[in-house]
Amino acid sequence: MQCPPGSLDLPANPQGDPGSIARFPLAANFQGPLMSATRAPHPAQRLRDVRYEIRGELSRRAHQIEALGRAVVRLNIGNPGLFGFDTPAHLREAVARGLPASEAYCHQQGLPEAREAVAEQQVERGAPGAHPERIFIGNGVSELIDIALRGLLDPGDEVLLPAPDYPLWSAATVLNGGTAVYYPCLASNGFVPSVEHLEALITPRTRALVVINPNNPTGAVYPLATIRALADLATRHRLVLMSDEIYDGVLYDDARFEPIAVHAPDALCLSFGGLSKVHRACGYRAGWLSVSGSLAGAQPYLHALDLLAALRLCANVGAQWAIAAALRGPDTISPLTAPGGRLHETRRAVIAACAGNPLMDLVTPQGALYAFPGVDPARCPDFDDHAFALDLLEREAVLLVPGSSFNVPYRNHLRVTLLPDAVVMAEVFARIARTLSRYAAIEPARRHVA
Ligand code: PLP
Repeated sequence: MQCPPGSLDLPANPQGDPGSIARFPLAANFQGPLMSATRAPHPAQRLRDVRYEIRGELSRRAHQIEALGRAVVRLNIGNPGLFGFDTPAHLREAVARGLPASEAYCHQQGLPEAREAVAEQQVERGAPGAHPERIFIGNGVSELIDIALRGLLDPGDEVLLPAPDYPLWSAATVLNGGTAVYYPCLASNGFVPSVEHLEALITPRTRALVVINPNNPTGAVYPLATIRALADLATRHRLVLMSDEIYDGVLYDDARFEPIAVHAPDALCLSFGGLSKVHRACGYRAGWLSVSGSLAGAQPYLHALDLLAALRLCANVGAQWAIAAALRGPDTISPLTAPGGRLHETRRAVIAACAGNPLMDLVTPQGALYAFPGVDPARCPDFDDHAFALDLLEREAVLLVPGSSFNVPYRNHLRVTLLPDAVVMAEVFARIARTLSRYAAIEPARRHVA
């Protein structure tokens, strides 16, 4: 069976069973006469526990379905450019103007113009000690997450991560020899962590506390009291505070974003932001990391960050010209999240669909680009998020991400991105409802008749 043209995806299994995908069948086929079994390139052991299901097995299956000519509604990735959201013109123009000056490597920490703009934003917010010298520009926040953890962790060091998390944080922790220790953010508490329970998870090996606010995948926006308590915890236990704030401007209704750096003057705080979401420029691959707060004893770690940044030479220079334009230019996200705006209306369609479905529960997302509805386990006792997602894909050509892909122990949640328009979203939830009704427990009377 052939892969779709232009794709490196794994083929379906030889029987062509659409419900399962053959795992790594290529090694056997590609072993030439000179390649012994021991020299076959097997993946590194440290990848064993690394997962990124947002682009995993289900997404590969979606490619196969598309290759057969069926359109799939892809709700698995928060990629605004795929849903008709343009990068604002003033960012494009800034890149175009800067392109002739983008042909050399720049400083490993990034263009001075970009770092100054990020420092300015952080200082305006009140982040103590934010400075262009302590800003690192990266190829997206993704690269900086890896650098920040790689510079910090020794084997066995522990990182406190929210559950659910954005799975790159778990992956980068494990890849860099660390151990992920999850603090629960429960639906019953609006997916906001209970900080008093978090303290018990801290051990002598704990090195960092990761906060994702506004949150992917839940859409939670943490209240001031929680932010202060998290900052206080990191300060008391001398943990590096890593705050992923890539959705800082994507807020609905009265939600307010609280930058944690402001409340952590005596902790070493790394705040992450970027162009991908608020500025709808995922493909530019431009993000930043701002170091603020207490620098006492932090110089060796800052040197490690600088060394790791230097090893990859620099971030994509062309895209960095858009950073100052984005941070100093007009607010282009609020019109999308305010009533009547496209993101607001889609979120409204999701809220309405979940409210109208007795099998589903939704904690209303207050920020970011996702909803994380749950399925009532009492009404759907046999529900399994992964099996359901595959079923939905096969039956209804809708691709979403099972909640367990975000490192939670339960299997009754689903993540959808809010990026399609409201009409498409209403149709998507109609398809979800149709598939879900098959999972609803058959009432005892009917079961008897059957
Ligand atoms: N952090 C979170 C919480 C995200 O949701 C994402 C992407 O979806 C990233 C980081 C990665 O962003 P970037 O495009 O800047 O690499």
